Amino acid sequence: MKNIMFIAPPAAGKGTQAELVVSKYNLPHISTGDILREISKEDSEVGNYVRETLASGNLVKDEITYKLIEERLKKDDCKNGYIIDGFPRNLDQAREYDKILQDLGYEVGNVILINIDEKTLENRIVGRRLCEDCGAIYNINDPKSSPKVESVCDNCGGKLYQRTDDNLESFQTRYQMYLEKTAPIIDYYKKQNVLHEVDGDDTVENVFAKIDEIIKK
Ligand code: AMP
Repeated sequence: MKNIMFIAPPAAGKGTQAELVVSKYNLPHISTGDILREISKEDSEVGNYVRETLASGNLVKDEITYKLIEERLKKDDCKNGYIIDGFPRNLDQAREYDKILQDLGYEVGNVILINIDEKTLENRIVGRRLCEDCGAIYNINDPKSSPKVESVCDNCGGKLYQRTDDNLESFQTRYQMYLEKTAPIIDYYKKQNVLHEVDGDDTVENVFAKIDEIIKK
């Protein structure tokens, strides 16, 4: 199975879509954001640095991100394909990723870009809630993706929380960062003929159907 990379602005639904691909195809899901959120819970110098950087919406420095990606991709479960989300986030990271892939004998696979406009994202971000136990994602401002019981996960009964960076100020920083730093990698992958664009302003099911078509090709 080909590897899958997701590129999307913040709150475009890439985490939700990646989880759907995981359940259907049983691939490991490597999200730098998730790994960094785990590190941010540590009571250490790195933990403190990552926690502050995440809350500000800025990017964590490359030396930390490269190391965690390399270590994760070397694990056996990545041999038959994996989903990578949140990395690379700029051209330097894309070039570094190419080197890591080459060392491991892997290919970039399908790069899936989820397109969605800024206003829709802004509305989504303030309502996003995540389950602290299973990571399921909800949106309390959208009846179609609200939890059945307030603050409780439908899947596992876990408690729902709001990411510290899911506020308008942090969103603006992350969105600007996306336009400046991440958007240039779209061309990088277009030139490699591996980019597929999907309209993300649709229901979760419809977006997934479009993504699944790409994967099945
Ligand atoms: P995400 O869950 O992908 O929205 O990522 C949340 C936050 O984690 C970002 O705003 C960054 O602070 C940090 N982060 C995630 N991936 C990377 C990366 N590839 N390089 C640097 N920082 C990252």
